[in-house]
Amino acid sequence: MRVSVIGCGHLGIPHAAGMAEIGHEVIGVDTDQAKIDTLNQGESPIYEADLPDLLARHTASGRLRFTTSLAEAAENADVHFLAVGTPLDADGRTYDMGQVFGAARALAPHLTRPALIIGKSTVTPGTTAKLADLLARHAPAGRDVEVVWNPEFLREGHAVADTLRPDRIVAGVPSRHAETIVRDLYAPIGAPLVVCDPPTAEMIKGAANTFLGLKISFINAVADMCAASGADVATVAATIGMDPRIGTGGMSPGIGYGGGCLPKDIRAFTAAARQLGADDAATLLRAAEIINEHRPTAALDLITRALDGPLAGRPITVWGAAFKPGTNDVRESPALAVARLLQDHGARITVHDPHAVPTALARHPELEYTDDLPASLKGADAVVLATEWPHYRDADPTTLHDLPAQPLIIDLRTTLDPRPWTAAGWRVRQLGRPGVRTPR
Ligand code: NAD
Repeated sequence: MRVSVIGCGHLGIPHAAGMAEIGHEVIGVDTDQAKIDTLNQGESPIYEADLPDLLARHTASGRLRFTTSLAEAAENADVHFLAVGTPLDADGRTYDMGQVFGAARALAPHLTRPALIIGKSTVTPGTTAKLADLLARHAPAGRDVEVVWNPEFLREGHAVADTLRPDRIVAGVPSRHAETIVRDLYAPIGAPLVVCDPPTAEMIKGAANTFLGLKISFINAVADMCAASGADVATVAATIGMDPRIGTGGMSPGIGYGGGCLPKDIRAFTAAARQLGADDAATLLRAAEIINEHRPTAALDLITRALDGPLAGRPITVWGAAFKPGTNDVRESPALAVARLLQDHGARITVHDPHAVPTALARHPELEYTDDLPASLKGADAVVLATEWPHYRDADPTTLHDLPAQPLIIDLRTTLDPRPWTAAGWRVRQLGRPGVRTPR
């Protein structure tokens, strides 16, 4: 099928490449000319596993190309995925829907024949109906332009795998005709397809992200209780997760959720709950946010205690800038929140990240960075592990032992096996774990 993907960001690029991989002819559209030039050279402007290979292969074969022209997209495709951003508005609580309605408004005059718009962005409930009205008023094809909501569940760091092998595909469809097109589009993937009405599809996405945030905040709240009571949160999390009603996914205690999705989606879902009169839901979700907002402070307390004194003038290495491993995305990164909090308390911070130094530097030029792991440790009073990259988990504690001023590692992601580090002479501190313990 001939499809366009409007908005080439963390969602749109893997989606465009994935659609080419399953056999469609794809044209990606973005307003950012520099990004389009990079993509047309078969290169990825974001760090994401397997993406460079897909982009190189499909731009070379001619099945995938990129443009800034919506007219070109409308001429060459009958299905248009909307994958533009939905950041928060100036109020910090509701979505700024400007990119979604702006892209639809700009595309509309070019829609001279029947077309299907498939929304993938995460949006305010009711958006599909508003877009359908807008397109009916402004597109020459009128009501022959239908709108489907097809929320995206990909995880950054696994974006290509999640696009090609999703757990499920959700499609909120307005008609049988639209459903048939969606079924044909995704048939090569073979994932379970949940077909529902558009408001349900919009709600599924908001509820899914919010539940993930609730789970993360829950185990972090328990981590605080463990820290105060002498219990080991890692054993608690692993063991309650053995109950299939609970599960271990999202149960890693740490410094909380971040990135371009969860923080904003939970805030916007909370605002939607209030607007819909579901005040109890809003109270529950706000509690999850408050727990998340306090995580950097819990980290600061642990680091201050481990260093046994004030932080002013102390050289501290922070391992990790990306909001999670596998991506160079630093939007609302808890690792950088901790680094900045330590710097605000007078510590001399060096941040290491294997892939996210350029994106972190662009957003937070006030911090010092390096992408050389051993060099990052030189002379440090402590190393703070803030993003659970495998580079840190797999590092050799014996080789690294003599580089810092004192061999102290503070693991804020409960990701290290403390035994080899302790055996190599390091002091290890972990959030919510009172000491080195091995459950039998
Ligand atoms: P992003 O900021 O990385 O990308 C958005 C892109 O849209 C940018 O490249 C921007 O230049 C482009 N754009 C804006 N207006 C445009 C227009 N009029 N025409 C063409 N391009 C335009 O954002 P993202 O992380 O890719 O997220 C996009 C949406 O997908 C959001 O609603 C987000 O919540 C949702 N989502 C993201 C992920 C993720 O992992 N990042 C996962 C699921 C859902």
